[in-house]
Amino acid sequence: MSLNRSIRLKTPEEIEKMASSGQLLAEVFKELKSVIVAGVTTAEINKVADDMIVEAGCIPSFKGYSGFPAACCISVNEEVVHGIPGNRVLKNGDIVGVDCGLIMEGWHSDSAETYAIGEVSMEANKLMTTTRECLALAIEQAIPGNRISDIGIAVETKAHKDGFSVVETLVGHGIGRELHEDPQVPNYRCLSDSDPIIEEGLVIAIEPMINIGTKRVVTESDGWTILTADRKLSAHYEHTVAVTANGPRILTWR
Ligand code: MG
Ligand code: MG
Repeated sequence: MSLNRSIRLKTPEEIEKMASSGQLLAEVFKELKSVIVAGVTTAEINKVADDMIVEAGCIPSFKGYSGFPAACCISVNEEVVHGIPGNRVLKNGDIVGVDCGLIMEGWHSDSAETYAIGEVSMEANKLMTTTRECLALAIEQAIPGNRISDIGIAVETKAHKDGFSVVETLVGHGIGRELHEDPQVPNYRCLSDSDPIIEEGLVIAIEPMINIGTKRVVTESDGWTILTADRKLSAHYEHTVAVTANGPRILTWR
């Protein structure tokens, strides 16, 4: 039982099952790496992921979630997250965030990665590098005895040091039998009353969203796509991470 009653801690056996779920998801992302090139549509990328998950006997968890129509959220350039796959053709210089989740034998995994199409600007490259580093630094904080706010502080400190801003209206989350469980995992210094202690058995999806310009975001008229208010670039990386006695274990590692 967690100190925080709303958090469902996982046993080592449950974490092994989540690791199997996460490993299949990692395989999906490895496959996508060769698929995501100039000329491909976002719908084609989604189909590769969807087919791989279904063929493995698993469930694409995003499909049907609050009515979302696809297995992946695919968000291009100024789109932050929750982009709907469709006819958009990717071109040289785009950066493309793919977010995907699956359920294996009842256990969820969730991960995201931003891909560069061909040659991207130096600024885009720097944004992607910083966002990856923000995720790595955040994961280092996922150790027993720390607080959830240590994760957000790590992300915010690095992003600001590199001159970027942190999206605050969307956060990481606990994960397990449900895609979204407690606690929320903000990517910024969040001084809330409930700042849970990180305990062994906690499994969370850590997912910094970092912008070149303003941290403010708006929702597209499709009701899903979140984009930067100033239409400047955004990047997003996510791993499902288990807190163990030996430190953080990245279940979606690839
Ligand atoms: Mg995700
Ligand atoms: Mg997530």
